[in-house]
Amino acid sequence: MQNNPKDRTALPQGIIAPDARDLAPGLYLVATPIGNLRDITLRALDVLSGADLVLAEDTRMSRRLFDAYGLRPKCTAYHEHSASALRENVLAQLESGAKIALISDAGTPLISDPGYKLVREAADRQIAVFAIPGPSAALAALTVSGLPTDKFLFAGFLPPKSAARIRALEALKPVPASLVFYETARRIEVVIKDMAQVFGPRPAMLARELTKRYESLYRAPLDQLVAQIPTEEQRGEMVLVVAPPEGKEQWDDAQVDEALGHAMQNNSLKSAVDEVTGISGRARKDVYRRALALQNNS
Ligand code: SAM
Repeated sequence: MQNNPKDRTALPQGIIAPDARDLAPGLYLVATPIGNLRDITLRALDVLSGADLVLAEDTRMSRRLFDAYGLRPKCTAYHEHSASALRENVLAQLESGAKIALISDAGTPLISDPGYKLVREAADRQIAVFAIPGPSAALAALTVSGLPTDKFLFAGFLPPKSAARIRALEALKPVPASLVFYETARRIEVVIKDMAQVFGPRPAMLARELTKRYESLYRAPLDQLVAQIPTEEQRGEMVLVVAPPEGKEQWDDAQVDEALGHAMQNNSLKSAVDEVTGISGRARKDVYRRALALQNNS
């Protein structure tokens, strides 16, 4: 990367790009812009220019970013369905000291994007994993929503089929936190209608095309939200944020047990109890007692 003051993408004067050789070996999870290409961090540029290999969800999409910043990294496609042979090859390179960056088409890798299996296996093998933080549509939307930010639950994409979607929404209904969803424009109308049916008229916000030229935000109770969005705006990329329930709704025992069942598959008992206590509105000692009972019965 050259420090040319006429180049709008060059580093501000006084900020010296570190030598790529300074990069420690390991796996780098590099966040990239969600629209506006200038939302890239200096550190992300350092890592992308210094990495031995960049794993990209879609190499053609990433080329746009590389071209904007004059980067020419060695780049290979990587997605969650990548054959385990490719993952094994990447892990072997990491074990021999390579510096490998993972990027997705936009935003933070692993957030509704590929990378979880790779990071889990790298961690299992004591390979260093570094976060290079930056944009994510979920946090960008939450912060502009005007809805409570002290507790939120990232719910990602809902199931595409209506019956499964309603079930997923019912499970989220008692969560005492703002809910953040990713959704496609094609389904947005029906999804908001399902949410209004399950959650009632909770305050909500739809953020579309964040950081892009035609960015727009719509804030309204769920039952009025669709009517606020002009038809021509029902396209592009979207995040929905829904306010927490009013008052102190608490999960019942069956909901706590179901959540514990999932959480205990991948976590220690203590972490599972912490997680479920945080989202259920139930006292920690109750959740702990139920977790012990589940463990003893399994
Ligand atoms: N990893 C990404 C992140 O950190 O935000 C998310 C990837 S997910 C496959 C893509 C979804 O993110 C889109 O369907 C949309 O819901 C949301 N999204 C991405 N960019 C967006 C933007 N500029 N404005 C609104 N939503 C966006």
